[in-house]
Amino acid sequence: MADIQTDVVIVGAGPAGLAAALYTSRNRFDTIVLDKFIPGGQINLTDRIENYPGIVKISGPDMIAEQVKQCETFGAKIKGNSEVISIKKLDAGNIEVKTDEDTYIARVIILTPGSDYRRLDVPGEDTFRNAGAGVSYCGTCDAAFFRDKEVIAIGGGNVAVEDTIHLTRFASKTTMIHRRDEFRAEKILVEELLEIEKTDKLDIIYDTVCTQINGSDRVESATLQNVKTGETFEKSCDGVFVFVGMIPNTGFLKGVVDMDEHGFIKCDTTYFRTNVPGIFVAGDCRWNAAMQLVTACGDAVTAAVFMKEYLRDPEWWTRA
Ligand SMILES: Cc1cc2nc3c(=O)[nH]c(=O)nc-3n(C[C@H](O)[C@H](O)[C@H](O)COP(=O)(O)OP(=O)(O)OC[C@H]3O[C@@H](n4cnc5c(N)ncnc54)[C@H](O)[C@@H]3O)c2cc1C
Repeated sequence: MADIQTDVVIVGAGPAGLAAALYTSRNRFDTIVLDKFIPGGQINLTDRIENYPGIVKISGPDMIAEQVKQCETFGAKIKGNSEVISIKKLDAGNIEVKTDEDTYIARVIILTPGSDYRRLDVPGEDTFRNAGAGVSYCGTCDAAFFRDKEVIAIGGGNVAVEDTIHLTRFASKTTMIHRRDEFRAEKILVEELLEIEKTDKLDIIYDTVCTQINGSDRVESATLQNVKTGETFEKSCDGVFVFVGMIPNTGFLKGVVDMDEHGFIKCDTTYFRTNVPGIFVAGDCRWNAAMQLVTACGDAVTAAVFMKEYLRDPEWWTRA
């Protein structure tokens, strides 16, 4: 099949990819958005978004349906079942993008493949996976749904400690479960956490993992196990927050763009340029992302707006 020529290919039709497509297509650039599944990304998994400015409440699928409609109105082509398997810079002006079926040649690429929450992989996690049923992966997104409820928070890194502190502002009681006997998070955060532990808002249980999440319609308890003694016990709760990390969907970009040791794509955080001229990045797959809908869209819009500067003058790429 002949190569498909276009101005811009966007890799991933989550909130970031669709926001980029809105701007590039409204600027009259031929825009193709490729997604390995259906459009939507992670936000498709929630039925309650309450922190997108200007929208009081909307479900993830409803928001995505509007985003898709909006960018298709301006001519963006969104293709599902199109997993990008390789990207190669051909010459100064052209970049090749391959899926199993097609080859695209574009002047600009915007990478928005997102990240997945690392899971516990325990029984019950899938059954109750969304904040309404009681399992969440994002304190900033979902803490407010657990006002005056009892929750368990699992993890020990910076995000776990920060999000647990955030949870204690809403939940009547937070129990933090950590598999080691000390935290690897920054000292200043740990100190703040330990101050809160002195109140009745927070308990911390060390050397312990969660082996099962239990309930009927929604979460009612978690089964916990002490890793040193092997002792198992059940703790009742209304929700379980899993803060054990993110895995960026960037395996196919190894050797293409610079990434950090976890696979998050490096970029400058003014224009979201990678180290390869013509390849921008946006959203949850970039390093130091805030992992929120509005910030993912914000990155993407910035990249889409500034791609014009690069097309006008490729030397712009290396300017501060
Ligand atoms: C249950 C849940 C609730 C949430 N609630 C909120 C909330 O209330 N408020 C908030 O601000 N944030 C919330 N978030 C976080 C928010 O969903 C993310 O920050 C946002 O989706 C990131 O957007 P993104 O476009 O960068 O990545 P993603 O949403 O992850 O989208 C990436 C897309 O790229 C596709 N893709 C990956 N690899 C490839 C490839 N090789 N080729 C083609 N396509 C590929 C994926 O299929 C996916 O569609 C929630 C997340 C979850 C899981």
